[in-house]
Amino acid sequence: MQIADGIWSVDGLRASNVYLVRGADGVVVIDSCVRGSQGAILGALRDAGYQPDGVQAIVITHAHVDHIGSLRELHRATGAPIYAPAGEIPAIEGHAPLPHPRGLIGQVFRGVNSLLRPDPVVVQHALRPGPSLTALPGWYVVPTPGHTQDHTSLYNPQRQLLIAGDALANLGGLRLAPRPFTSNIGRARASTAMLAGLPLRNVLCGHGAPVMGDVTVPRHLQTLGRPQRYRSNASHALSWR
Ligand SMILES: [Zn+2]
Repeated sequence: MQIADGIWSVDGLRASNVYLVRGADGVVVIDSCVRGSQGAILGALRDAGYQPDGVQAIVITHAHVDHIGSLRELHRATGAPIYAPAGEIPAIEGHAPLPHPRGLIGQVFRGVNSLLRPDPVVVQHALRPGPSLTALPGWYVVPTPGHTQDHTSLYNPQRQLLIAGDALANLGGLRLAPRPFTSNIGRARASTAMLAGLPLRNVLCGHGAPVMGDVTVPRHLQTLGRPQRYRSNASHALSWR
């Protein structure tokens, strides 16, 4: 489905969104959903007018199983180099566990990860912050840590458009990704507060429908980025997380 000029989302995926972005001399694929999604992604490329060898790069926002699941197959089908955040590369390449939260929820998440974990694949390039992707002129690589340790988003200032990965989710409105799937909620909020400072009215999340032409996005992100106030049962004192 075409979202905007030169930007498409892949239809028919079950777990998370994959975006195609027209680049300097072809197209760039952002994330790869779960295992078995390569057919839908290659079909969407065709519908957008690209052959597999027209893919210039595959960019990964973070190393969760619903974003790297079809990475190896997609890399094989297109021959395109993989770009990923430096801190997420060991997990993608199979040298480290996939990122997961701490505590009991983290243990459950780890179990799910090991069941769904895709085959490792070698990453060709670490993403560098700034306008570093030659395949995507006008786009900036923006670190948005928190959901995972080295989570990264892509931002186009001219279009006021953010491809957020799971730094944000559009689940009944724009919000942070659910806490059970987030490694460090405090850092995720700090990243959101940083994003609130950008001129931004279009947000494409890893989960949920596109947010387009919404001038209230920065204000909303400012609220989401605030540390949360809560009442401690033990002391009945208000404190900041
Ligand atoms: Zn995630």
